[in-house]
Amino acid sequence: MDFEKERDQMVNEQLIPMGIKEAAVLEAMRTVPREQFVAAGDEDLAYMDGPLGIGQGQTISQPYIVALMAELLELTPEKSVLEVGTGSGYAAAVLSLIAKDVYTVERHASLAKQAETRFQSLGYDNIHVKIGDGTLGWEQYAPYDAILLSAAARHVPQALKAQVSIGGVMVLPLGIGKTEQWLVKITKTEADTYATRHVCPVRFVPIIGKDGWRES
Ligand code: SAH
Repeated sequence: MDFEKERDQMVNEQLIPMGIKEAAVLEAMRTVPREQFVAAGDEDLAYMDGPLGIGQGQTISQPYIVALMAELLELTPEKSVLEVGTGSGYAAAVLSLIAKDVYTVERHASLAKQAETRFQSLGYDNIHVKIGDGTLGWEQYAPYDAILLSAAARHVPQALKAQVSIGGVMVLPLGIGKTEQWLVKITKTEADTYATRHVCPVRFVPIIGKDGWRES
């Protein structure tokens, strides 16, 4: 398979027609080898317009959703971003080409380690991985210019509200049920003031943690 060609097609036939405009995002999506982030044996499906299973009951998000979230985060080469839910590491890899530093937290050690190995072999040295409960954020490197939740929450975890800078943006799937969610963009306009925009309905796995869902 010619993955470079597949990648170009993904951008030209999925992302651009679906409304992704930001040049840095499109460039990152043309660059990150998604076939290296899917489960072994699924490489041929990597550029399909949909999510794929990655083990542990988790998924690598649809390319369009990754691009959309990346665009909503308003990143520039000077900014830092925290991601909760590393999963395969694909979204973090895309963000790493747009932002200065990416901090990403994953609760499943096996997924976190696998993602870290991928980052090393691809030379993405501005991605920092932590195994733990991302509903508590990652205090050490806060505040972040942007925070992305790659799993769905029923409310914005308190720690994340505190760890985003003023003027910063949070993007997350928000929902009261485990399956009905909206992708929202929340801008922290002042110390305790937030502006929320509902972007589109989405479907993500739930965020499991102290300030999220309980495991069941
Ligand atoms: N961004 C990923 C997709 C992640 S799927 C990618 O591009 O592949 C959601 C991930 O969130 C899963 O790996 C899941 O284990 C993780 N997750 C769920 N709750 C979490 C929490 N509280 N802290 C950290 N990771 C969590």
